[in-house]
Amino acid sequence: MTERAFLRHPLLVACGVSHGFGVRGAPEPERCLRPRQVHGTAVMRASEGAGVEDADAIVSDVPGLPVAIVTADCVPVLVADPGGAHVAAIHAGWRGLAAGVVEAGLVALQRIGAEPARLRAAVGPHIGPCCYEVDDPVVTALEARFGAAAHAALTRSRPGHAMLDLGALVRAECVGAGLAPGAVATLGAACTRCDAARFHSFRRDGARAGRLLHYVSAGRDPRILDNPMGSP
Ligand SMILES: [Zn+2]
Repeated sequence: MTERAFLRHPLLVACGVSHGFGVRGAPEPERCLRPRQVHGTAVMRASEGAGVEDADAIVSDVPGLPVAIVTADCVPVLVADPGGAHVAAIHAGWRGLAAGVVEAGLVALQRIGAEPARLRAAVGPHIGPCCYEVDDPVVTALEARFGAAAHAALTRSRPGHAMLDLGALVRAECVGAGLAPGAVATLGAACTRCDAARFHSFRRDGARAGRLLHYVSAGRDPRILDNPMGSP
């Protein structure tokens, strides 16, 4: 079954939700709802029959309706509460992080009934600090929002530049929004630029880069609980 291509995170498997971080060639789930991404902070709320909206996060309490975002180096964040009553998919690049997209997505989840202290967030494949050099205007924008956490996520590489750990900023943002530190986890060994066999990367492939799709569905999926490592 082709859906085996998706990567799953144990934190979200434990929540019982159907979800997947995309790899090359992974198919888009049927009836998948995803926003038109614009590197902003708008959040779309899923509903049956919803049209496409400009947003970089989507929240849902509609069981069985996959919501998704796409990336090619940016950070995909999938969020759920145990049992999957509320879920979110968030697209976070440096612009979105500097503008507060992760917090915006988590606040929107709270508005539809989720309790931040119960949420679990999995950080999917993205460009790692091994490969992601940014220049000083980016550093300044991130320092303005993250302060000391930005310093911890940046390592000077050469004058005017630094290597950036986007995932560290996502984790800081999640904890700042009320998630328990142990409830935020990163998929291991998943730098999109290093691993050409599995991932698309804008930094590596430029304008011809494909996109990875990452989805999560509200509602407990019994097939996941029966077969945690297999394909629902
Ligand atoms: Zn890398």
